[in-house]
Amino acid sequence: ATPMSIMVGVGRGAQHGVLIRDAEALERMEKVDTLVVDKTGTLTEGRPKVVHVEPVEGVSADDLLQKLASVERASEHPLATAVVDAARARNLPLANVLDFDSPVGKGVVGRVGGVQVVSGAAKYLAEQGVEVSALEAVAERQRAQAATVIFVAFDGKLAGFVAIADPIKATTPAALKSLREAGVRIVMLTGDGKTTAQAVAKQLGIDEVEAEVFPENKANIVERLRKEGRVVAMAGDGVNDAPALAAAEVGIAMGTGTDVAMESAGVTLLKGDLMGIVRARKLSHATMRNIR
Ligand code: ADP
Ligand code: MG
Repeated sequence: ATPMSIMVGVGRGAQHGVLIRDAEALERMEKVDTLVVDKTGTLTEGRPKVVHVEPVEGVSADDLLQKLASVERASEHPLATAVVDAARARNLPLANVLDFDSPVGKGVVGRVGGVQVVSGAAKYLAEQGVEVSALEAVAERQRAQAATVIFVAFDGKLAGFVAIADPIKATTPAALKSLREAGVRIVMLTGDGKTTAQAVAKQLGIDEVEAEVFPENKANIVERLRKEGRVVAMAGDGVNDAPALAAAEVGIAMGTGTDVAMESAGVTLLKGDLMGIVRARKLSHATMRNIR
C-alpha cells in the first residue's frame, strides 16, 4: 500500500481505539482466515473473582487463602489479583514471601512462614509431584461451571483448591459472530484446564479448543496452523501469549493486558474489545482497495 493510504488507515484505527504499530499488520489483516484467541483476559474480562474455597481436612479455608494470597501478592496474573482480593475481603493478614517464583502460564511457588506453598493447575502440581486426585471430583464440578481451579500444596501435600470465575466480556459474542460471518475461523487456546475451557467455548459457540497449553506451545500451535496454509491472527493479553503473538501473521494485544504482549503485537486493541478486530479487517480492506 502507499504510505499515504496506510497513514489514513492507521489514523482511522486510532480514532476507534485500534492502535496499529506495524503497517504490514494492517496490510495482512484482510487476508486473515483464522483467529486464535487466548481465553483469560481476551475472551473474558480478565477480572476474575474467587467463587469457592475448598480446603482438605485439617486445613482451614482461612489458612489456605491466607498462605496462597501471601504468595500470589508477588504475582501479576489476574488469578493472583483475585486471590489477594478475596483474602483482603476476609481481613486475612498477608505474610512475607521468600523464594518466590512464577513459572509463566503454570502457577506460583514461595515460602510463607516456613511452609513451601505451590499453586497452579493440576498439571503443574503433578509436575511438582503433588497428588491432587482427592479433590478432583469436587474441582470438576466448579470447572463445569466455567470456573478456573487452582490447586494449592503446602510442603508438597495437597492443601486444597480455590475456584475462580471470570465472566465473558460483554462485547465478545457479537465480535465473534461478525468474524465468523466474515469467514474467519475461531480457535481458542488456553493454559486453563479442559473442562473450564469447554464450558467457556460452549457459551461462545467455539468448537476448536486447545486447553492446558503451556506458553511455548501457544506459539507452536500458531505455527502449525500457518503450515496448514491458514492465515493466522493471534489475540492475547498475557506475558504467556507474547511468543504466539510474535509467531502469528498478525499479533493483536489487548490494551488492558501486559506491556510484553503489546510489544510483541502489531496491533493493540486499546479497550480490549474484540470488535476492534472486525474494524481492523475493514480498515485493512479499505486500505488495500485504495491502492489497487
Ligand atoms: P490463559 O491462557 O487462559 O490466559 P495462563 O496461561 O495465564 O491462562 O495460565 C494457565 C494456568 O496456569 C491457569 O489456568 C492457572 O491454573 C495457572 N496459573 C497461572 N498463573 C497463576 C498464578 N498466579 N497462580 C496460580 N495459578 C496460576
Ligand atoms: Mg490471558
